[in-house]
Parts: sequence; structure tokens; C-alpha cells
Amino acid sequence: MSIVVPRPLASAAPRDAREPGYAPFWPAGHVIRWHYRRPGWQEGEPSNIVPLTVVRDDERGLVAWLAAGTEQEITVAEDGSELHSLPLEEMWLRPRVGLRTPWRGNGILRIAPVGVPWSVWLFWSPGDADADGLEWRFAGWYVNLENAHLRSGDITISSDHILDIDIDADGIIRKKDEDELEAGVAQGRVSEAEAAQITANAEEAIASFRAGDWPFAEEWQEWRPDSDWTVPAL
Ligand code: MG
Repeated sequence: MSIVVPRPLASAAPRDAREPGYAPFWPAGHVIRWHYRRPGWQEGEPSNIVPLTVVRDDERGLVAWLAAGTEQEITVAEDGSELHSLPLEEMWLRPRVGLRTPWRGNGILRIAPVGVPWSVWLFWSPGDADADGLEWRFAGWYVNLENAHLRSGDITISSDHILDIDIDADGIIRKKDEDELEAGVAQGRVSEAEAAQITANAEEAIASFRAGDWPFAEEWQEWRPDSDWTVPAL
């Protein structure tokens, strides 16, 4: 087993930020904001921010719901192009601006286990709808490699690690965006050593899935949002 480094990238949390996993916990139904900041982020710079509704928050970690249609802030290139549409050679060099846009697709459940450099996102696709049109079909997990979270007030803060892991509903595992991580090293977004640590962390995340750790438990595939919850505002 390699060593897991919870925050391989410089954290961009305020001085009063605290570790999750300790009281006071956020109550179920509470609206929080989930931030991704670039390493070295400074006040006033754009970042990724989305409001979610807390499902469970305790010593194991945070589970929160991102409802379909939620307005979020994302970062895009200055001319408005989405980052994934940029040529790889300049992806990490182009200045960015913030853009408000709704979360596209179905709602997802995000799980941030305490102390690990990833969060686990559960996706569903519309299944064969029953009379109420309520059937969901579990579509798999997306493991977003990222700094272990810190929180301050009602926000939880992380930094994205570029590399991701897709795990389909049958458990087929595929790493994603390895080329973007390489470009990140070439363009100075992350160092060679940081990229090596992120890649090692990915193996630990895969081991966590194979071990059936709690974020991958079946209960979450069966979980559904409270029908009283409304879509939170950014
Ligand atoms: Mg990612």
C-alpha cells in the first residue's frame, strides 16, 4: 500500500477553517456550499461553487445532495469556452472567469469521507418509469480526486486533482483525464511530485471501492431525496 496524502495540493481555505468529522455537524436538510478552489486561490478569484442539501454529516464524513437544475458557479476560459473544450496544450494556461450555469443532468449524491483525497459521486439515469415516473436506475460512481475537505461556516472547501475515476454500475473501473493531469504538469498547474501522489491516491481510491468501504455501500444506491426539499439557491 502506498501512502495516502490527504492534501497534496496547497489548500486554499481561510484561517478559521476546520477539519470535518468533528462536532458541530451540519443537520440533515441544511444547505451548504461545496467549493473547488485552485491551489493558491486568493479572495476574489473565480472558483467552482454549488449549493447542496446535507443528507448526513458525522465522524465518517459528509453526504450531500446536488439537485437537478441547481444553479452553480463554474470556471471557464475568458472567452466563455468550457475548459474541456480547450486544446490540451493551453488548458491550464488560459485565464479563467466565473460563470453561473445550472447543473445539467439528474441529481447526484456527493460523499466526502473524512481525511481522504477524493469524494464519491453517485449518478442515476431515468429508468423505465413507473406510473409516477419515479423509477431511478443506478448508473455508477464517479470518484473525484481532490484535497480532503476543510470547512468554514456553511462552506466545504477542496481543490480538484484533475484525475478522476469512473466506475460503472457493474464495477468496471476506468481512470479519466490522465492526459489533462500530464498537461497540468507540463503547464505548471501541478508539480511532477504532486501528480505522482495524485496517481498513487487514485490507486487507494480504487482499493477503497474494492474493499466496499461505506461510501460505496448499497444503501446509497437506494437512497432518495426528501420530497420536501427544494432546489437551493446559489
Ligand atoms: Mg476531477
